[in-house]
Amino acid sequence: MKPLSEIFPLLLQKKNIVIIFHQKPDADAMGSALALYNFLIQFNHQVNVISPTNWAGFLSWMPGCRKVLDFEMQNAKAVPVLEAAEWLFCLDFNTISRTRNMEPVITNMHCEKILIDHHQQPQSEAFTYGISNTGKSSTAEMVYDFIVESGHSDKINTSIAECLYAGVMTDTGSFRFTSTTASVHRMVADLKDRGFDHSQVHENLFDNFLESRFRFFGHVLLNRMDVFYEYNTALISIPQADLIRFNVKTGDTEGLVNFPLSIHGIKLASIIIDRGDERKSSFRSKGGFDVNTFARKYFNGGGHFNAAGGNNKESLDEVVKQFRIAIHENRDQLSSYKF
Ligand code: 5GP
Ligand code: MN
Repeated sequence: MKPLSEIFPLLLQKKNIVIIFHQKPDADAMGSALALYNFLIQFNHQVNVISPTNWAGFLSWMPGCRKVLDFEMQNAKAVPVLEAAEWLFCLDFNTISRTRNMEPVITNMHCEKILIDHHQQPQSEAFTYGISNTGKSSTAEMVYDFIVESGHSDKINTSIAECLYAGVMTDTGSFRFTSTTASVHRMVADLKDRGFDHSQVHENLFDNFLESRFRFFGHVLLNRMDVFYEYNTALISIPQADLIRFNVKTGDTEGLVNFPLSIHGIKLASIIIDRGDERKSSFRSKGGFDVNTFARKYFNGGGHFNAAGGNNKESLDEVVKQFRIAIHENRDQLSSYKF
């Protein structure tokens, strides 16, 4: 990949630009994309944002979100927009397969593809320009760097600040994870100096759920969580019937995996959800257990060292069985932890 600095001079030439991110976007994917969108439109580029799938309702407040196309629901509109792109920004994912049904279209596009991402093992050969830095807290932080390094930080307005803050705040677990460097705080200070209401961003993201989501959490924590103390591990496994019973929507399960991680002694927290078409898993760890490798080895997935996910075609029972085998195989690492 050629460095991003090579495209800075080209920013001044009007372009047809499309921004994409991973399926079922989180606040970092949507926030970094909409920050970039709100930056690029100031150069009079033609800019479109396309999501591979639908997204959680708690992201809809983000400036520009109403214009985002859903590749699955608005396919006839999204495909020609993608095909007309001269530049394709790919944010917050390392392999094209993370764009789900969009993958064949993206693979066949011959425009300039630009990667900005912080996941491990990027598919670098698929991109012309880009930066992949696993040391970065969030893609939002990388988009901030991109804007500042391009020499156009004067273009950071309230809309951009809100989107970047949403991305960096959520991807750092509200500035908790070790990825929260001093430069993350410097970036937030700079955004605050430009004037935006960070309390409102927290409210928009975290205080926007329906009662049914909390009833669902209550049910799941009471009835669907197993704690394997000998492995310092907890697993929540959710059959599809629960999702139907509590009317669970996209984004409603976000954050659920973190609950067991706050049990004393738990080093690995996992969740496996039967989504009908696949069994989607999420893994979170504390300290030295590498869930990126764990997700890759047993669950067709990947991610970061302490936060990863995967997906399986086998039944829920089968995937849970696989999980129990996997923790047993990793028992030396998991059980060695002393609290
Ligand atoms: P989450 O558990 O929040 O869905 O994802 C945690 C991290 O793992 C994210 O950084 C995400 O990109 C990555 N991840 C989640 N699911 C998958 C997957 O199926 N495949 C890969 N390669 N990465 C995933
Ligand atoms: Mn991210």
